[in-house]
Amino acid sequence: MKSPMRQVHLDFHTSELIENIGYKFSRENFTENLIRGNVSSITVFAKCHHGMCYYPTKIGKMHPNLKFDLLKEQISAAHSIGVRAPVYITAGWSVYDTANESWLARNKDGSVQTVNYDRNASDDTPKPFASWQNLCLAGEYADYIYKITEEICLNYDIDGLFYDICFNEGVCYCESCISGMKKSGLDPDNEDDARRYYKIKRLEFMKKCGELLKKYHPKATIFFNGSCEPELCDFHGLETHYELEDLPTAWGGYDKFPFRAKYFSRYEKPIIAMTGKFHTSWGEFGGYKTKDALKFECASMLAFGAGCSVGDQLHPNGLMDSSTYELIGDAYSYVKSIEDICRDSKLVTNLGLWISSDPEENEGMSKILLEKQLDFDYACADNLSKFDTLIVPCNPVLRGDDVNLINDFIKSGKKAVLMGNCIERGINCGIDYIGKSKCDIDYVTAGEKISEGMVKSPILFYESAYIVKADGYETLASIREPYFNRTYGHYCSHMNTPYREETADYPAICFKDNIIYFAHDVGRIYREYGSVYHRTYFCNALRQIYNGEYFNVELGGRGRATLRKTADGQKYLLHLLYASPYKSGAAEIIDDTTKLYNIPVKLNVSGIKKITLLPDEKNIEFTDTGNGVGFELAVLHIHQLIMFEK
Ligand SMILES: [Zn+2]
Repeated sequence: MKSPMRQVHLDFHTSELIENIGYKFSRENFTENLIRGNVSSITVFAKCHHGMCYYPTKIGKMHPNLKFDLLKEQISAAHSIGVRAPVYITAGWSVYDTANESWLARNKDGSVQTVNYDRNASDDTPKPFASWQNLCLAGEYADYIYKITEEICLNYDIDGLFYDICFNEGVCYCESCISGMKKSGLDPDNEDDARRYYKIKRLEFMKKCGELLKKYHPKATIFFNGSCEPELCDFHGLETHYELEDLPTAWGGYDKFPFRAKYFSRYEKPIIAMTGKFHTSWGEFGGYKTKDALKFECASMLAFGAGCSVGDQLHPNGLMDSSTYELIGDAYSYVKSIEDICRDSKLVTNLGLWISSDPEENEGMSKILLEKQLDFDYACADNLSKFDTLIVPCNPVLRGDDVNLINDFIKSGKKAVLMGNCIERGINCGIDYIGKSKCDIDYVTAGEKISEGMVKSPILFYESAYIVKADGYETLASIREPYFNRTYGHYCSHMNTPYREETADYPAICFKDNIIYFAHDVGRIYREYGSVYHRTYFCNALRQIYNGEYFNVELGGRGRATLRKTADGQKYLLHLLYASPYKSGAAEIIDDTTKLYNIPVKLNVSGIKKITLLPDEKNIEFTDTGNGVGFELAVLHIHQLIMFEK
């Protein structure tokens, strides 16, 4: 089965205080809106965060004000027009089930694990966003979810299951977990043991749900929402695909998704990127994004190798919101026009970025590269050979033989950008690592070779460098320490202490042959402070060793560019994206979709015979650049897909 490219995730967390649930539902209204929205897959609800089921159940609690099998009607209506309908089951949050106190997840002191939830609040206290108590997926509650899973598998034509709120990292000290730990020879008083048990039980939960589904519906998909972070890699093998939930307007902006999509591509399983139609976040009735924002988000999903999923929430009366499906329909008609060529395409780049254990470092490095249209992929042991240049960030995740592989990469003459403390882990580069500077901040002066676009004066780094001794290396940037660290006893003015007049005796950037070393954690500092000079500083130094990219285009800080090959490996697809999200009240919005004109584009691949703009199928005239082709793109509005054929 082809993985869906145009999905809707139809939330339906519906209070039992509301009457007449689904009374306006009709097959006609449902299918009419799916067609209006150009939807090819819709996730519908079996069980919601209120703990209510939307089908007649012998195990759980059917919503008391629902008089028919809504789940069955939705699945059958979707199937009648060829739309997939995976089924949603909430796991960790389910209010009805919290009445059973022994099912609740507990902290060491016995208190209940909650999110934004006050257990002592009175009934008339206003309730905050996403406010729930956590259930434990290890004991009897897990058995109850297995029974619900089996009931659904037996009674419905299942395309897939989506389990929500699967917190896969943590500890639980409920009675079941404590006795389980003791039975397994683990010590509940030892936090490492508690974490180990928690992980064992979570893996067991995923495995058992997967086995049940496979028994009844061997071809159905399965996904557990909560494990799509790089650090949770032990869970990634138990899912058929990944749904990368990311609400860019309210959950950390537009730069989280590309880095996660690149990371999850390593598993070669389908990726679906999930956003929302909401202005802010889930559960927002009456909030809408602009058409252009949804189009930009969906085009980005395709550009970074994912299918699309847009979150919506159905009104309790069961009537689909036609305004929502008009907006989604506009974005999805665009997706539909290019999805076949984009499906299963593969990223083409020779710049690798190793993963850091620090998410801010990953996002910051990713931002720097994306903002300069320097496309990259995540490097790991399995794909290292495809790269020409490798960036090893601060706090790299190095397992097994990884250090030796990186050392072999460098020894073979390939290029390496080494950041901060990464060399402490045994990377052979002839640099002696001494340790983190004791200064609270420091300053950097860019030398002549990396001075383009920089100021001549020392620039502030908001955190200090790592101190190294790099004999035989050329210094590309030097450090000035502050007179003293800022304390109540020693301070100067409002903020940071000014720099000393002499240069420190350790470098900020040093360079030799195929290696560049940065003494600062540039990625994380850029993520936190966002100074363009830090970005320029990094890229100017990178350019000392890296110039062999597959394409060149300059779109400014808000532009994105990525090159992929079609699934058959025959054609190159260059995606150019441009939008300027800005903070507007509670959200980051896109309403000003400026057009860019006359953009020079180069593809550094020989033998190209034809260039076509998609979806318009307009052929473009081009020139031979010696190592590829060049042309001028007349206009870029939100997204342009450019196909190159040999
Ligand atoms: Zn527990």
